[in-house]
Amino acid sequence: MAKKELFRQLPSIDGIIQKKKIQDLMEQYSEKFVKEQIRLVVDGYRKKILNLPDNGVLNIREEEVIQDICQSVKDLFKPSFVRTLNGTGTVVHTNLGRSLLAKEAVDHMMEVSTAYSNLEYDIKKGERGSRYNIITEILTRITGAEDALIVNNNAAAVFLMLNSMAKGKETIVSRGELVEIGDSFRISSIMEESGTNLVEVGATNKTHLYDYENEISEDTAVLMKVHTSNFKILGFHESVSIEELVLLGEKYNIPVVEDLGSGTLIDFTPYGLSPERTVMEALEEGADLVSFSGDKILGGPQAGIIVGKKKYIDALKKNQLLRAFRVDKFTLAALESTLLLYLDPKDAMEKIPTLRLMTMDEKKLQEKAEKLKEQLSSLDGLKIRIIDGVSTVGGGAFPMEELPTKVIAITSNQPAHVIEEKLRLSSIHLIGMIREEEYLLDIRCLFEEDFEKIKEVLENILEDDQ
Ligand SMILES: *Cc1c(COP(=O)(O)O)cnc(C)c1O
Repeated sequence: MAKKELFRQLPSIDGIIQKKKIQDLMEQYSEKFVKEQIRLVVDGYRKKILNLPDNGVLNIREEEVIQDICQSVKDLFKPSFVRTLNGTGTVVHTNLGRSLLAKEAVDHMMEVSTAYSNLEYDIKKGERGSRYNIITEILTRITGAEDALIVNNNAAAVFLMLNSMAKGKETIVSRGELVEIGDSFRISSIMEESGTNLVEVGATNKTHLYDYENEISEDTAVLMKVHTSNFKILGFHESVSIEELVLLGEKYNIPVVEDLGSGTLIDFTPYGLSPERTVMEALEEGADLVSFSGDKILGGPQAGIIVGKKKYIDALKKNQLLRAFRVDKFTLAALESTLLLYLDPKDAMEKIPTLRLMTMDEKKLQEKAEKLKEQLSSLDGLKIRIIDGVSTVGGGAFPMEELPTKVIAITSNQPAHVIEEKLRLSSIHLIGMIREEEYLLDIRCLFEEDFEKIKEVLENILEDDQ
């Protein structure tokens, strides 16, 4: 059909406005707003016609155009921040929102956000209190630190520590520890922005204690150690332990600060993961301040947690910038409840989703995979296999850890990338993977209560093919 003919088939804007469905829409929403959407949808059709190849086919039905307009108006009232299903197997997936909160944390957030609270009110004394005291007790109890402070995230924690302790002075750090922490953010840039002069010592793969000592001067304010997070140097490699750094710090009376990155509060070796220094160990080894994230391995809300010596925490609390990094009540509630679960590590492992998913054993993974396979087996035109795979922890923690997992591999008449796109754009926003010609779902971070929905959506997608 000639393009001219197609343009003629396109209903006129005036004609569309007269339709009953559109009149109803205009009554419900504003007229101006609906007219805007009509123009957008009709323009969309015009573009489609223009881009149509010479032998292309396009059917324009008025009813469909009206339907598209109604949908586009309704879509504008839907949030764009939505649930997704994580079929990637990466537990702390920064793009997919990092940690899932425990139910206890969510309930607590609800409780203090739908009612007044003692956010900055001391109930015992009946006078003004501080929001920072809410979390101090539980954090010091769990970590053994003298004092604690919470800010918006770990990047803010690093910034605040150096800005308070080393602004206009020098911070010595090993070159091998200055990592990029994702999305082109470099820990060295954040440190420099704090106003400290970074003195980088050593080579990428080797730093010795004398490298630090050679650079110490009366301008040195902090000796810093940074967790190398998402990368690990293998082979010919040497770094200075926090204990050695602490001895050096004591000799020259310079505080030692450690950015632990993910920061674990539990030893995961009994669950088959490789040893990772815990926050408690860093403190026992003498770090004056230790900072870590709330929403990585800890499994809580986004936050930067700082624990350590009271005299340094006091200095941070006096910094005017603390106000700019202040956490809200939702964060404090979710974090406190998450931390309370850590009082009984068994409780923490069961109730904090991040920990549960990270340490899920192969038997459970196999069972879950079989359940999903079974559920999908009634669909025609699908070939489903369960294969072995590898999940990662993510969030810069346990960089080399390969968690054995089970993967559902799906093939159908439609190419894997088409299945991938349709599931991603569908109402459940399932994020999967493609390998060669197979569509893959790592079972680890998928939940059984979503299996039925996955089946329904896949069923619809398969019908598209017929
Ligand atoms: C992730 C990470 C950060 C940043 O933490 P956020 O909580 O995301 O701000 C800083 N340092 C290290 C070593 C990290 O791994």
